[in-house]
Amino acid sequence: MQFNGLLKSKLSGVGTSIFSVMSQLATENQAINLAQGFPNFMCSKELISLVNKFMNKGFNQYAPMPGLLALREQIAIKTEKQYSAVYNPETEVTITPGGTLAIYAAIEALVTPGDEVIIIEPCYDSYTPSVRLAGGVAKYARLQYPKYTIDWNDVKKLVSFKTRLIIINTPHNPTGSVLSASDMQKLEKIVENTDIIVISDEVYEHIIFDGLEHQSVCRFPKLAEHSVVISSFGKTYHTTGWKLGYFLAPENITREIRKAYQFMAFAANTPMQHALAEFLKRENEYLELGAFYQEKRDFFRKLLKGSKFKLMSCSGSYFQSVGYEKITDMNDVEFAKKLTIENKIASIPTSVFYHNNADNKVLRLCFAKDQDTLEKAAEALMKIE
Ligand code: PMP
Ligand code: GLN
Repeated sequence: MQFNGLLKSKLSGVGTSIFSVMSQLATENQAINLAQGFPNFMCSKELISLVNKFMNKGFNQYAPMPGLLALREQIAIKTEKQYSAVYNPETEVTITPGGTLAIYAAIEALVTPGDEVIIIEPCYDSYTPSVRLAGGVAKYARLQYPKYTIDWNDVKKLVSFKTRLIIINTPHNPTGSVLSASDMQKLEKIVENTDIIVISDEVYEHIIFDGLEHQSVCRFPKLAEHSVVISSFGKTYHTTGWKLGYFLAPENITREIRKAYQFMAFAANTPMQHALAEFLKRENEYLELGAFYQEKRDFFRKLLKGSKFKLMSCSGSYFQSVGYEKITDMNDVEFAKKLTIENKIASIPTSVFYHNNADNKVLRLCFAKDQDTLEKAAEALMKIE
């Protein structure tokens, strides 16, 4: 079927997300999928039993718009314990169907046409389209290759009277870099005495390595007053398909975002919120996540030692970036496709995380996989000359 009228695109130039493209290519070619970021192992059986329990008990109708209060309370308790930040569960904690929607709702609610949003690239692919849909204008700073650190002077130079938001992400997808306390202090200085709001994408908050501590914006009281913190249960509990996340923000910012959110999804799914309200009480489930993934990172890196790929540093998230300059000068999208089709390993070419497709000859590999998968993947990667 075809629509024969004039179809005005609000997202001209945007194609299908690379995550869908590479996952489909992986399936078609029976390749090992290290592309889209998701674990290939089971989530907790107890968590599933809890969801079951609440479904069977009849908790199958709409949850309250901002989320189940019991879950919001647990999130507030956890946030205070972890980051010494106090959020009122009634007015400052909101559950959403996934982190992506929380980011979208925040941008849609806070950006008016012509407002500028500072985005630091490479970045998660939803940021720019969300800004465009809101009529905002993205201004880009860059992480400094190859360490992927932020030069805050570059960010500062982009600030104008039109700047509405700055979006940051730590631990970082796709590079695995993490922001330090000093980064946060510099950001705090930039937004101090301005109307700028920070969206801090912290969905990998518990996946951080080598004894580093996650520096949430909410650890810095003056910065927290300017910030919306985004998190996702998908990353923390190996349940990306459940699409459940939340945001934390000062009361008046929350009020604005909820205004938009109530017409986007209204509420997130009920039985899983009940289950998570109980499961969140078990601190170890998330406190041990860093060590769990660090073991996978180390295992995978060890297997790849001596390969032609250059292993970039990875301090957090479940992504290992690898440089392939020594293998070919092919562009990264083509090389990622070739690897999927010929070598049966699907990855994400990192140029897709830049608005101008900057190609550093780097691929992103997801190591949230069981040991056997990582071994098979490494075996195939070691053979590439
Ligand atoms: N931000 C980043 C950086 C991510 O990698 C993801 C994972 N897709 C999300 C946000 C959103 O997570 P979800 O919508 O699956 O909860
Ligand atoms: N966060 C995951 C990734 O970066 C999945 C994103 C998605 O499928 N939208 O791979």
